[in-house]
Amino acid sequence: MGFDDLDAVLALLSGKETVKEKVWEMLLLSLDKEEWEYLSVRAREVAQARFGKSVYVRALVEISSYCRNNCRYCGLRCGNSGAVRYRLDMQQILDCCREAAALGFNTFVLQGGEDSRQSDEWLAGVVAAIKSEFPEKAVTLSVGERSSMGYALLRSAGADRYLLRHETADEAHYAFLHPQTMSVANRKQCLYELKRLGYQVGSGIMVGSPGQGVRHLVADLMFLDELQPQMIGIGPFIPATGTPFAGEEKGSVEMTLRLITLLRLRFPNALIPATTALATLCDGGTERGILAGANVVMPNVTPLDLRDKYTIYDNKKSNGSESVEQLSLLEEKLRGIGYHIDYGRGDYKGL
Ligand code: SAM
Ligand code: SF4
Repeated sequence: MGFDDLDAVLALLSGKETVKEKVWEMLLLSLDKEEWEYLSVRAREVAQARFGKSVYVRALVEISSYCRNNCRYCGLRCGNSGAVRYRLDMQQILDCCREAAALGFNTFVLQGGEDSRQSDEWLAGVVAAIKSEFPEKAVTLSVGERSSMGYALLRSAGADRYLLRHETADEAHYAFLHPQTMSVANRKQCLYELKRLGYQVGSGIMVGSPGQGVRHLVADLMFLDELQPQMIGIGPFIPATGTPFAGEEKGSVEMTLRLITLLRLRFPNALIPATTALATLCDGGTERGILAGANVVMPNVTPLDLRDKYTIYDNKKSNGSESVEQLSLLEEKLRGIGYHIDYGRGDYKGL
């Protein structure tokens, strides 16, 4: 394909029309290294036109390593008897937020397994307490599938955003990755409900999850087009000890970067993180993610003595520039590629 044709594709991606399956498929299958480099430079320009050379930071609090679900890929699955379990109480979560606030963060992300003891009511109390102490700051939740009433309660307690990756839009692939108790239909319904309730919604996938092929990625891109999320989380699959997929291949860093690029081109205003999984698999992963079109990083503020217990996959990075303790290292890394941290709330702004 020549660069003129690529410019025609760029026009398609930035247009309002639905991008056809064939186009996504061609992009994923037929481009050479030079063409991908061309697209990633365009994606970087698109991000810079919206966000300058700023990267938003969100403080990540991992509130529980208990989970009632048994997703086959995840180290926190209930069937993993080797996983170490902990749950933070309200005071610990507030202390994490205070620490992050003192460092200048304006978004707290509370993420955890689907812990039955952290009920909607309890979590709503935590969100309300955070919002009462920090009314100007944003609270993002990432605590899995809940009832419509649960989501509504959390929203009225003050939660601003919700991250729930759809993981795969294909029904059979979803069933391969998840226990029978979970379904892609319910996942999608949750996402639409969150949108209806006025959350800024994040979805996304793991790249290279077992059984994933190009047709699944095409379905994922088509689904994201339909959902129009405000945030998109794309990270490589990394095997986790104690799971059925412990011996599977890890996902591709290159494919992760390519998807970030395509998504930035398609969703110019989206908040797209350079994920911890990307940083875990590759030195310089954060910088490469930013240069591919990402514009968010989520440093970890979970209590230090518990941080290595949130083992969703093996060797997960949680110190170094992935931690709030080493923000200067993150700043230095970003400076190395001509970027800097933006401590603003970083809400979604459509045009
Ligand atoms: N329980 C909530 C959920 O599932 O949405 C939030 C916590 S879950 C650990 C957050 C994300 O971690 C999931 O959406 C999944 O994409 C990612 N994840 C889980 N296991 C992973 C693995 N082995 N490799 C890479 N990412 C993984
Ligand atoms: Fe639980 Fe989320 Fe892990 Fe699934 S991905 S086992 S829901 S923590």
